[in-house]
Amino acid sequence: MMHGFIPPQRYFPYLTWPDIAAMSDKENTVIIQPVAAIEQHGPHLPLAVDSAIGLGVLGKTLETLNPEIPAYSLPNLYYGKSNEHYHFPGTITLSAQTLISILLEVADSLYRAGFRKLILMNSHGGQPEIMNIVARDIHQKYGDFLVFPFFTWKVSNIVAELFDEREQEVGIHAGAIETSLMLTLLPEQVRMDKAVCEFPPDSPPDSMLSMEGKLPFAWVTKELSQSGVLGDATIADKAKGDRILAALVQGWQQVITEVYHFQQPQVSTT
Ligand SMILES: [Zn+2]
Repeated sequence: MMHGFIPPQRYFPYLTWPDIAAMSDKENTVIIQPVAAIEQHGPHLPLAVDSAIGLGVLGKTLETLNPEIPAYSLPNLYYGKSNEHYHFPGTITLSAQTLISILLEVADSLYRAGFRKLILMNSHGGQPEIMNIVARDIHQKYGDFLVFPFFTWKVSNIVAELFDEREQEVGIHAGAIETSLMLTLLPEQVRMDKAVCEFPPDSPPDSMLSMEGKLPFAWVTKELSQSGVLGDATIADKAKGDRILAALVQGWQQVITEVYHFQQPQVSTT
């Protein structure tokens, strides 16, 4: 079915135009745009990992969300900005400019239809910056359009409870964390017999510069990993995946509920 992980009654493309024209509380209805990537995830995971994670988390969230809260998922944007994985075959990347244009034009169409709350639910670590730029630009253009540039993983601290510091800090791609969650969401597409452990070369201990820290250097994946994996995929565990999913779903239920009630702060002009 076209809706995949998303419950059909929460799937925006299944609505008709009269359904939308007749919606009662359109200003507070929460529209969610999942944004992901088609990019290499090592020898053991499919290209669609970020889409599977975003849609898996969102689908479970919408299944159990309070039915009184109007919230709809747009169709997933499978393509993202993935040029850090450029050198691995199968990666398909949009330019930053194209991704920005797509999201701005989606927002224009939603605004024209009367919607005023949009969550960008991004699941790919290479593009939170794009979400921030787009959200600011939409809100500056339409002052009454409230836009939320969220990263799927940021609603919970569960990863810190389940994995050691090294995995949390540099196990950022196709390592134990993503692989565990994939064992929960799409186990038939995980090839555990091909899973590897590969960490990027350590930075000198007294250096201020790091891959993902406060003062980062630009990198592409092939400089840091032969396999395309950053992390230890061999220790991935479905029981941990189940706990990650439950925690993310709980966080997303809360955040969608908050967005539904959210009103933009305004300085008083009296
Ligand atoms: Zn990923």
